Amino acid sequence: MVYTDTRNKNVKADFKTAVLNGMNVSTGGLYIPVSFPKLPDSFVKRIPEPSFREVAFEMAKPYVEGEIPDGDLEAIIQDAYPFTAKIVPIDHVSYVLELFHGPTCAFKDFGARFMARVMSYFNRSEDQNLHILVATSGDTGSAVGSAFHNVPGIDVTILYPEGKISPLQEKQLSTFTGNVRALKVKGTFDDCQKLVKTAFTDIDLRKKFRLSSANSINISRLLPQSFYYMYSSLVVKNRIPQDSKIEDPSIIVVVPSGNFGNLTSGLIAREMGAPIRGFVAATNSNHTVPDWIATGDYNARPSVATLSNAMDVGAPSNYERIAAMYSLDEVRSMFASYWTDDEGTLSAIKGCHDKTGYTIDPHGAVAWKAWNDIRHGAMEKLLSGEKGDFKKPGLTPNIPEWAKSVPEKKAVGIILETAHPAKFGSTVVSAIGREPSMPDRLEKVMSLPDNSIPMANDYDTFKDWLTSNL
Ligand SMILES: *Cc1c(COP(=O)(O)O)cnc(C)c1O
Repeated sequence: MVYTDTRNKNVKADFKTAVLNGMNVSTGGLYIPVSFPKLPDSFVKRIPEPSFREVAFEMAKPYVEGEIPDGDLEAIIQDAYPFTAKIVPIDHVSYVLELFHGPTCAFKDFGARFMARVMSYFNRSEDQNLHILVATSGDTGSAVGSAFHNVPGIDVTILYPEGKISPLQEKQLSTFTGNVRALKVKGTFDDCQKLVKTAFTDIDLRKKFRLSSANSINISRLLPQSFYYMYSSLVVKNRIPQDSKIEDPSIIVVVPSGNFGNLTSGLIAREMGAPIRGFVAATNSNHTVPDWIATGDYNARPSVATLSNAMDVGAPSNYERIAAMYSLDEVRSMFASYWTDDEGTLSAIKGCHDKTGYTIDPHGAVAWKAWNDIRHGAMEKLLSGEKGDFKKPGLTPNIPEWAKSVPEKKAVGIILETAHPAKFGSTVVSAIGREPSMPDRLEKVMSLPDNSIPMANDYDTFKDWLTSNL
């Protein structure tokens, strides 16, 4: 596969270059494949549907062709995914896609684990270790740390702001041993990010060490997230006629979004033939993208803190990919957009629990609320001419091409549940008055010793530490 770049279509790169560089430093653009090959009908229409790992292999294959042989790709997928995504029906037209069955209980495990193994594969012929530096505001650090833990030839240094992440999140990233280390920085997330960026542009440091990043703009984190969209839509398509007697369903995937990496992966799956009619982009009060869809003007802004903190992004980095892949009209035909505030998020956790018995986390709750409103009249009001107001929480006034399937009762929702509710226990308690049950792997981490290393918010001190410890 040839990769090009969002800012200069003349750029051509192979997969290895795209993965190891992360972004194209000479243009500042993000890598995208030049095409999204459709999977054959014989695969997509197979009954029973293919397994998650079969889907992963078939989808990854065209993007690594000529660079990773089939047998090695198969091994990477087997090793990356000892877990899968689970599809849980919560009412007759709604399924929750649980993406938290990986080691850190968040969907980022799907992308980070594939990326780690691909990087290690491309690094195997080098005699010098690859050093990954990653700044985190919470969830990314643990997913990346866990994904690279004990991966040969690669070391990871995580920087996080001391006192600014939850105690559980801190445990999840500070208790690694061996090749993954965590620095607790006396500063904010932005300070951590600045230290990392300064290191990347430090010629002196780059001469001594091979440095790389692992942030969410890397194409090798994006491609694997498309696997579960394909897999879940095939499963739901096959079972909905039995579950609810709906023939020829119109599958709508509802995506709680921050940086819009997850949604971009969904668009890739649809290009490759996933039976997905359309999407709902659901955000919290950081509604830069819904506003863009409503008005046509894209205005990045500073982020505001919310209960669904992994979605607190005011300048979503994957907007650039979506805008390079599609016109605004195409975007408006594929996805509806929706936003809600903290009050709406709490009422959604409660509403979902009361109506269906399902305990959902604050991120998934934003998506559930969008879907619940759409099903209960919000889309029909727009269709019947109501104007809507994008400045208020709710559905933005643009009507996607799939909207008619809602009144026709053909619409079936897949709600992405991006984190386990136990990661956000106190928010869940304030909504439903009860702690969510704690999965084993989260409970275990709470009793491990904290190995974090204190770090001043000062580049020279950080550089000295890197020079003597890498
Ligand atoms: C990162 C994250 C999101 C947002 O995903 P994007 O790809 O950035 O849109 C949503 N939920 C959880 C739990 C996350 O960790």
